[in-house]
Amino acid sequence: MALKPLPESIRDYDKVVATTCSNMCEASCGMLVYVKNGRVVDIYGDPENPINKGALCPKGSGAFQHIYNPLRVKYPMIRETLDDELKRVSWDNALDFAAKRLIELRDDYGPEALMIHRTGRSDFLWKLGGSRFGRIFGTPNVVGQGPICCESPGVAANYVHGAKDLGRLMNPNTDWIHSRCILIAGANIANNHPVEMQWVLDAKERGAKVIVIDPRFNTTMAKADIAMRLRPNTDAALVMAMINVILKEDLYNHEFAEKWIHGLDEWRPLIDAMPPARAADITWVPEETIIEAARTFAANTPALVTGNLGTAQTYNSNNINRCYMILVALTGSIGVRGGGWNWLHNCRPPLNAGKDLAQLPPIKKPVVSNKLIGWADVSAANFPNAIFTQKPYPIRGVWWNGNMLAQMPFTQKYAAAFKKNVDIAIHNTFHPNFTYHHAHVVFPITSWVEREGLCHHGDNRLMAWFNQCIEENWECRNDIDVIVGLADRIFGKREGLKWFPWRRKDNPDLVDMAAATDWFNKQESFTAGCTKKTLDPETTPKGGVMWPAATEEEAMKYEFPDAKIRGKYVMYQDEPYPESDPPQRFPTPSGKIEIACQSLKDIGWDYLPQHHEGGHTPVSDPEDFKEHPVILCTGRPVSSFHEMGHWWPWCDELEPDRYIQIHPQLAEVLGIEDGNYVKLESMRSEIDGYAWVTEETDPRQVWVYCSTDEYQPFVPGITNRNVSWVIDDIITDPVYNQAEFKAQLVLVWKKGTDKKEALRKTHEFLKRFPEYPVDREKELGAYVNGVAMKGAPTWDKKTKKVVWNGKAAEDGNVLPFTDD
Ligand code: SF4
Repeated sequence: MALKPLPESIRDYDKVVATTCSNMCEASCGMLVYVKNGRVVDIYGDPENPINKGALCPKGSGAFQHIYNPLRVKYPMIRETLDDELKRVSWDNALDFAAKRLIELRDDYGPEALMIHRTGRSDFLWKLGGSRFGRIFGTPNVVGQGPICCESPGVAANYVHGAKDLGRLMNPNTDWIHSRCILIAGANIANNHPVEMQWVLDAKERGAKVIVIDPRFNTTMAKADIAMRLRPNTDAALVMAMINVILKEDLYNHEFAEKWIHGLDEWRPLIDAMPPARAADITWVPEETIIEAARTFAANTPALVTGNLGTAQTYNSNNINRCYMILVALTGSIGVRGGGWNWLHNCRPPLNAGKDLAQLPPIKKPVVSNKLIGWADVSAANFPNAIFTQKPYPIRGVWWNGNMLAQMPFTQKYAAAFKKNVDIAIHNTFHPNFTYHHAHVVFPITSWVEREGLCHHGDNRLMAWFNQCIEENWECRNDIDVIVGLADRIFGKREGLKWFPWRRKDNPDLVDMAAATDWFNKQESFTAGCTKKTLDPETTPKGGVMWPAATEEEAMKYEFPDAKIRGKYVMYQDEPYPESDPPQRFPTPSGKIEIACQSLKDIGWDYLPQHHEGGHTPVSDPEDFKEHPVILCTGRPVSSFHEMGHWWPWCDELEPDRYIQIHPQLAEVLGIEDGNYVKLESMRSEIDGYAWVTEETDPRQVWVYCSTDEYQPFVPGITNRNVSWVIDDIITDPVYNQAEFKAQLVLVWKKGTDKKEALRKTHEFLKRFPEYPVDREKELGAYVNGVAMKGAPTWDKKTKKVVWNGKAAEDGNVLPFTDD
């Protein structure tokens, strides 16, 4: 029997504030924060908020342990070199120190020597304030977390649907109950997005079919009508085979396809070449399951597809996401209730750091990037090489937040590059994490209950407001206060006030959060109606506003009588897309959903979506396969998000050990039992953890969760290095440079046993499975075929060196890299 939720806290309180959970994931749950004498005493899910209906995940419920965590960084700190101890100073001293170093950096190396990196725990004003500061300072290197996170699907949506910027969710979760089939790809929603899983389960109770595609039999798959456990990075082959069935059996929506899809006939030969039997060999999914899934998806419309990191952090990400989009389109489930391509996370609106920046002279140097597209977040993975090699020009300053250093692929290389060549590293932080330990200046930052602001990249194309519930703890300030503090010192007070004018009346060194947020939102028509006045859950209907909302009037309207959230509830209805010129439903060059994409062809990528092997698979890298014969796939647990979660006890208790999931058959061969201490090695480095022997993972694959940090408490006995230590930073998705976190070759063995013997036994074990029947000419990735785009780093297997701009790298890119 379900427990009845209590209507209010049983604790003694004198104030309750309606607010929104921020920066710990992108669901934007409504919260009621109970306060007594200026201290948070309880946190409840807000039952009136339509998104979470009173529910919270463990991070939200345990957030007061974050707010009052004794481990939080409480004061500004500085040090001359990374070998010195950090020492506590005043805010003025820390800002003076950082400003002096940044001025020296600009004078000695040019402004482009500074990289500003905004992360998934960023608030809106750090993102836009960071961009604005970077533009005025003169650096093109303003970086987002997208290329190591999940923005590649948004990039694909731009080409297929013509989304402005990274719009990638059509229908919100609250609409999913109208779906008759929900396909979930590469997202363990039941575990990582539990408040959103309730909408999937509600739809299932109403009769919707649920299809789950994932490399692991996870909690979400346990609820599936059809479960497909596939080899990582092979979704394109799987979906093309589903489309093969749908076209052959004439199960698609002809009317929609003829009117709104461009390039289907051109794609047919590739689809014909991918029958379910062939896809079964490539993907590990049985032929009959692929056929059943295709028939189910096509027969139960409106159908929708949702997903997350699984289709983003992988080599063929662009094509994989194009395939999923076309699958939905072929059923005609676009622009209708219950349908849509509804990718979670980073569904952010177009953002604008200020129209007035156009008056500045152009930035002199090009950005450090080797992705094919010339827009969206700059490639984070490029920066270790630039810092190491100081090419194409020196990068000697880094300013970032979150715990980015621990999350960068090939972490230890980045860390070593820091020690070697970075003169000023500034870190806005909550915790004394790995990144903190590589900083010259540390600024303590407020949590979301200590400030007000905007959640702007929610899972539901959502803008939501969070209210300040208590005063700032210790000496914490907001990210944007660091930005204006440095602007005042570097550009001069007058210029600082000119470019960052929204100051608090009681203290002009600090920013008026609401005024600054409204100012930035007004710079962009998609967000102009999203102001504190229209978003505040204390004074407006709960749940926020779905962008685009060009005016405050638009932001206050519900699109359908039963729509649960205000604003634009369903995108791509049969009407012109906002601002489309000429007016078109799909603002692509053809005016239709594009299977065949000339714009991608023009930048050197595939005209038609197709399957490509990743950079590190048994097929594409047989040499590395000899040494590392098991496929590593990674994911995220609910208790962790960037640096949030594992730093406080309740969340850590949920997943206290950094485990390595390994199938019982492989475990038996290697003499590994549940709970044994095991080692895992890739061509890059080594991590450790405790074995979780489980059938969740395929026998040929192991699974490890990400976002750990060797400095975080509570996990005894292992190094607790993040899995990014073993992730390659060179072979990435060519279109957007998304790092490959889903398919990396590794070797696993029990600590204290012979590693070479483990390698021999693993190869012996793998002989039980069929070989991979890949067409080497067509399906190997661009890097493997040696046709990488001009200027991109490629990997010369003979010399074991990375080749960059036609020359073997002299430093940093030499394999194997050691972290001595
Ligand atoms: S972390 Fe995400 S799911 Fe959890 S309470 Fe906050 S918004 Fe909701």
